[in-house]
Amino acid sequence: MSARLDIHQGDITRLAVDAIVNAANESLLGGGGVDGAIHLAAGPGLLEECRKLGGCPTGSAKSTKGYGLPAKWVIHTVGPVWQGGLAGEEALLASCYRRTLEEAGRLKARHIAFPGISTGVYRFPLERAARIAVATVTAELAKYPDLERVIFATFDDHATALYRALIPSRAG
Ligand code: ADP
Repeated sequence: MSARLDIHQGDITRLAVDAIVNAANESLLGGGGVDGAIHLAAGPGLLEECRKLGGCPTGSAKSTKGYGLPAKWVIHTVGPVWQGGLAGEEALLASCYRRTLEEAGRLKARHIAFPGISTGVYRFPLERAARIAVATVTAELAKYPDLERVIFATFDDHATALYRALIPSRAG
């Protein structure tokens, strides 16, 4: 089966996929936004395992189990804080998607769901971030034959419309 891209609007913590991706910060010790929602839904075991990971640099990714989540694993990746675009933010965001897929490949995940990394509190412009997300995942998919589906979990109608416009099979 060939890998493919999909869009799902709603709370990523509810998705019964092999791995959901967390937009974490470098401490990996929890935060607001999607990070807070994931820790709340997973329960305290997640934070306990995260404490043992010793943080994660921006642009990289580390995985844990999913604990109380329907997802088997959480892949924590640290997006860049938007600083106007001249601080390497685009390359760092692309690296988040690449490193997360690498981790998904290592875990032999078949289904994975990404939130819009850096597009909340970290203020990365949404359309620019969505373009990087779709382009990077599209370019990397051939390396991961086990990955049947990559879901972009959007949180509002605007984000959903942006992803629909970027993913040809979903454009209509
Ligand atoms: P960052 O700090 O990387 O910007 P945020 O958590 O602030 O991360 O936001 C990342 C994106 O996740 C935003 O687009 C936000 O709307 C979205 N988001 C927040 N909560 C959820 C959730 N429960 N499920 C899916 N997406 C979410």
